[in-house]
Amino acid sequence: MTAPARTRSSAELIRAEEPVLAHNYHPLPVVVARAEGAWVEDVEGRRYLDMLAGYSALNFGHRHPALIEAAHRQLDRLTLTSRAFHNDRLASFAERLAGLTGMDMVLPMNTGAEAVESGIKVARKWAYDVKGVPADRATIVVAADNFHGRTTTIVGFSTDEDARRGFGPFAPGFRIVPYNDLAALEEAVDATTAAVLIEPIQGEAGVIIPDDGYLAGVRELTRRAGCLFLADEIQSGLGRTGRTLAVEHESVVPDVVLLGKALGGGIVPVSAVVGRREVLGVLHPGEHGSTFGGNPLAAAVGTAVVELLETGEFQRRADELGEVLRAGLAGLTGKGVTGFRARGLWAGVDVDPALGTGREVSERLMREGILVKDTHGSTIRIAPPLTITAEELQEALGTLEKVLTA
Ligand SMILES: *Cc1c(COP(=O)(O)O)cnc(C)c1O
Repeated sequence: MTAPARTRSSAELIRAEEPVLAHNYHPLPVVVARAEGAWVEDVEGRRYLDMLAGYSALNFGHRHPALIEAAHRQLDRLTLTSRAFHNDRLASFAERLAGLTGMDMVLPMNTGAEAVESGIKVARKWAYDVKGVPADRATIVVAADNFHGRTTTIVGFSTDEDARRGFGPFAPGFRIVPYNDLAALEEAVDATTAAVLIEPIQGEAGVIIPDDGYLAGVRELTRRAGCLFLADEIQSGLGRTGRTLAVEHESVVPDVVLLGKALGGGIVPVSAVVGRREVLGVLHPGEHGSTFGGNPLAAAVGTAVVELLETGEFQRRADELGEVLRAGLAGLTGKGVTGFRARGLWAGVDVDPALGTGREVSERLMREGILVKDTHGSTIRIAPPLTITAEELQEALGTLEKVLTA
């Protein structure tokens, strides 16, 4: 008879990862075992307020009842067909998502990086088939300090040395211009340009919000230049900033929007390229695909996500609670916070480097029951589930004040 498996402690589980798990992450030393709403619980039963929400993959909180129910129902009926056959969930997912975003067509994928890769492929195909760019000459203009994912093509146009070093050679065809600089963009765009690909707000870079007028300027410039505007809304989209899409803050309609993270409700990876028919219509059978893209489980969860967003409740919450977050951070400015950028329930907070690195502050917050993540240097990112209450948000801000003024 074998002894019953002994439950391992957090410390033991962290040690057990070391020899068997690739070291491509440096997680905070917390081992989460269960979660509900804005709260997670570790192996020892300690509770933490989740102020990161899976980098916005958990916009609706952990295990939102409507999403869990949709997943359970689908698990009991059909989980995968591959696109070799139709499945009975995909049509309504595509219809609802196109409706929510005001676009015509949907290309379902799985991860964010795949959506970006797919967007790049579609933009290039459009450049050759519709715009008439000579074969293999299409260029795509991107912004410095971007984050679009981790595939070799995508890290090839990153400006983050840690993301690039050791992974070349990289794909050609990308031009990098400073973010929030319309003059530089104008100069980089020419007859070979298939698309301009940018994040409406740069998340990984530290929640960098461009000047008012930048996104509208990108729209105007790309329209004039006859190239596409691809908005990577994988982190900024689906309610986070107080709108369904962050581009709505400037009433901008891109040609293509890339979605991911929250689209899977924190349950399964679901991403999508949504766009105008003239653009996504360039794809024909055999030219692109994904074994798991558009699978019935993903479609069922994705449809339930769209249904939540159709109510407008989450966008409204992000807007209203965003004011609480903003006021709290303004009150901390000068008290350990040197600056912050916030839109909706999303903030990049620069902590006085004298108080420690972003990592050290994150560890201190963890010990006080608040989970956040540092980005670069002394910046921490705050992005709680949109289901968080005003009281919970105040509690987190109070803990941040305590940690910064200790
Ligand atoms: C997270 C993210 C991606 C990549 O998504 P994955 O699912 O990790 O591949 C791409 N773009 C932006 C803006 C992101 O935040």
